[in-house]
Amino acid sequence: MKFILFYFLILLSASLFSQDDSTFIRSIYNTALSEGKAYEDLRSLCKDIGARITGSAEAEMAIEWGKRRMESYGFDKVYLQEITVPHWERGTKEAGWIRMDNGSLIKVNLLALGGSIGTSGKMESELIGFSSLQELKDAPKSKIEGKIVFINQEMNEQQIQTFKAYGGCYPVRGTGAIEASKKGAKAVIIRSLGIPIDKHPHTGTMHYEDSIAKIPAAAISTQDAELLSQILTSGHAEFVLEMDCRDYPDVTSYNVIGELTGKNANNIITFGGHLDSWDTGEGAHDDGAGIVHTLEALRILKELNYKPNNTLRLVFFMNEENGNRGGKGYAEWAKLQTKENHILALESDRGGFAPRGFSMDGTADQIALLASFAPIFKEYDLHVFEKGYGGVDISPLKKTFEGIPLVGFVPDSQRYFDFHHAPSDVFENVNKRELELGCAAIASILYLFDQNL
Ligand SMILES: [Zn+2]
Repeated sequence: MKFILFYFLILLSASLFSQDDSTFIRSIYNTALSEGKAYEDLRSLCKDIGARITGSAEAEMAIEWGKRRMESYGFDKVYLQEITVPHWERGTKEAGWIRMDNGSLIKVNLLALGGSIGTSGKMESELIGFSSLQELKDAPKSKIEGKIVFINQEMNEQQIQTFKAYGGCYPVRGTGAIEASKKGAKAVIIRSLGIPIDKHPHTGTMHYEDSIAKIPAAAISTQDAELLSQILTSGHAEFVLEMDCRDYPDVTSYNVIGELTGKNANNIITFGGHLDSWDTGEGAHDDGAGIVHTLEALRILKELNYKPNNTLRLVFFMNEENGNRGGKGYAEWAKLQTKENHILALESDRGGFAPRGFSMDGTADQIALLASFAPIFKEYDLHVFEKGYGGVDISPLKKTFEGIPLVGFVPDSQRYFDFHHAPSDVFENVNKRELELGCAAIASILYLFDQNL
């Protein structure tokens, strides 16, 4: 019985992939590794543009950069899709100090969380520490009122899938200001969402609730969090904080789109990454890597003279980090293109590390198709072909087009949260070969979906 099953699987894989498929995928990898443009494209995005938060001059220049790059690669169509985006600025660089009982000061590395209000000058208050968000929620208001709250919740370093460890701490950053404000705190300081103990603070989006007073929110480096927690266990301290950040009115911005037209032009496969980044570092892994992965994937398919069955539509989404207006705007716009039939979407937004495979938010049949691609990727060291998450930018398509499968590129995740939303997310921390392997994996799976959907 086992033998029959084995024989059946061999037959199945033999029927699904021809020698032509294997040869074509080999040529995709050869092009990516020997004649790749992704690394230079990433250098240019990181160094010629740099950090590119929504609403900034750099974000506008990144749109221009993306359009020019797509045009230079000769895609069939290149155009901009207008959206409206939020505009938040950090302002003058923020500063924070721990004031010890004896009056001495220790300067800490901190970043305002994205969307936070400022402090309107210098703010100074007694600190109260909690080891988790839950501990803060359980504490009496009387202990917290008028103080600055410090939440030292650590990412679980024993979790092998680091995105799960990140998910465990995400509410601290997202709702820490709301929970602290409910108890009358003046501000909230959180431990950065990063695994290594180092000096880099990590920013990221945070939220307020209309009915609850807005208070400033910032993240300090894991090194400073360790120190502060030690100080608070053995004694007491004050915190001095100055932040100048604020919201401005919404502005007009764009998603950048490039296409190779398919034989069935109205069947659309959407894929891409997000063009915006936080305003610190260079947005190299998050998500410069996703931008050049997907740009390079389409460039290679074009270079190899591939004529797709379906239209391959590359989208550089704007504003993933603090609003997802690009993803939402694209889904709304796509719905208005009434002739279009959206058959799949894919996103790369987990860094430029060595590829492991792909995850899919889809039906059992759709996931079975993805899993059937595993044998052809064996020689390229990819093994993750399973149910899972797609991506933030493509997620609104799910509501607009019922049943559309959403695919997420899965690279190795062990070092992603060393750099995520931190000043260390720079070009130098992306490995050329690992980046190129990601481009090849994405081009290959787009080819396979295009052939088999
Ligand atoms: Zn991202």
